[in-house]
Amino acid sequence: MPSNSYWTLADRPLGPWPTPDTFERREAPIPAPGPGQALTRTIYVSLDPYQWGYKKRGVEARGAPCHARTVGQVVESRMDGFQPGDLVFNTNGWAEYGLMGEGVPRPGYMIPRKLDPTLGRISQAVGVVGMLGLTAYAGMILQGDPKAGETVVVSAASGGVGQIAGQLARLRGARVVGIAGREEKCRFVTEDLRFDACVSHLSPSFREDLAAACPKGIDVYFENVGGVVFEAVLPLFNPGARMTICGLIAHYGDADGTAARTALMARGEAIFRERNVTVHDLFVGDFVADHEASFLRDMAGWVAAGEVRYREDIRQGFDQLPAAFIEMLQGGNFGKMLVQVSPDPTL
Ligand code: NDP
Repeated sequence: MPSNSYWTLADRPLGPWPTPDTFERREAPIPAPGPGQALTRTIYVSLDPYQWGYKKRGVEARGAPCHARTVGQVVESRMDGFQPGDLVFNTNGWAEYGLMGEGVPRPGYMIPRKLDPTLGRISQAVGVVGMLGLTAYAGMILQGDPKAGETVVVSAASGGVGQIAGQLARLRGARVVGIAGREEKCRFVTEDLRFDACVSHLSPSFREDLAAACPKGIDVYFENVGGVVFEAVLPLFNPGARMTICGLIAHYGDADGTAARTALMARGEAIFRERNVTVHDLFVGDFVADHEASFLRDMAGWVAAGEVRYREDIRQGFDQLPAAFIEMLQGGNFGKMLVQVSPDPTL
C-alpha cells in the first residue's frame, strides 16, 4: 500500500519569511473515507500569499499538512454525489491524498465541488475560473466599479489576481495601468494582457514612471502590494477615486499582520479625506454565496472567448512545493503559481 506524503511546518519558530527548513516532509497511511467522506488524489496544489499569513497566525494545526486549495480526483467515495474518477475542487493542502466531506476541517467558504472540464482547464479551478477570478471580480467590478475612460491601476499586475482584475477593467473600457516587477512581466502585461501601460516598481524612476503613465490621475486602484507601491499611487488619486485593498504582500513578513493596513490608512488619511477617496476592504469569502455560481459561468465564457487571458506558472513535482512557495512570495512566479503533484487525466 503506498503511503501519503505531505509537507507540514517543521517544529521550529517561524521567521518573517519562509525558508527551506520552515517545512518538513512526512509520510502517513492513506486515510480511509468515513461516512459522508471521499478520498481524493491531489493533482494541482494552489500556492497563494495568504497561506503564509495562515501559518504565522497559527491557523494550521501543527503537524497537519500545510493548507492549500487543490484540484483532485476522487479515488473512493462514501459522499453523496461524488464518484471515483470525478474531478473536484477541494482543500487537500500540501498532501498527495486527502479526505473531503463531513467533518473534514476547511475554511467555511472553500466548499468542495465537482469540476466541469468543459468550463476550462481543471487547473483554472483554483485560479481564473475559481476563487482568484472571483477575488478580482469582486474587488474590481463590485467594489471599484470602473467606468469607460477612467484610469485604473493594478499592482502585482502579472500575478494570479492582478492579471484578471486589470482585464476586467479593460472590458469596462477603462484605461488600465499595471505595476509589476521584472521587465518581461511588464511586457507580458501590455502585450499579452493588453493593459494600456505597465511600470516596474523595481525601476529607480518608478514614482515618475507611474505619474507619467497616469496623466489624468487615478480613479480606481486595486491594491495587492502596499509599501513603496502604495506610496507612489497615493498622490495620484483623483477626487471620488475608489481603492480596493485586496492584499498587502509587501508586509506579509511583518510581525503584526494587521498593522500594515492600519499604517496604510493612517498614511493615506489626509488625501482620502480631501479627495473623497472610498477605500474598500476585500475578503473573497464574503462574495461566494451570492456571486460564485454566476461568476464562474461568466468567467468561463470570457476565458473561452479570449476576452480574459490567463497565465499560469505550473511547477512539477511534490518535492517542489516549499521552493515554489518561497519563490512566489519573492516575486519569482510569472503568473498564477501552482504545483502539479500527479498526472492530470484531462491533458
Ligand atoms: P501573485 O501571483 O500576484 O504573486 C505575488 C506577486 O506579488 C509576486 O509575483 C510579485 O510580483 C508581487 N510582490 C511580492 N512582493 C512584492 C513587493 N515587496 N513589492 C511589490 N510586489 C511584490 O499572488 P496572488 O495573485 O495570489 O495574490 C495577489 C494579492 O491578492 C496578494 O496580496 C493576496 O494576499 C491577495 N489576495 C486576496 C484575497 C482576498 O480575499 N482579499 C484573495 C486572494 C488573494 P512582481 O514580480 O510583479 O513584483
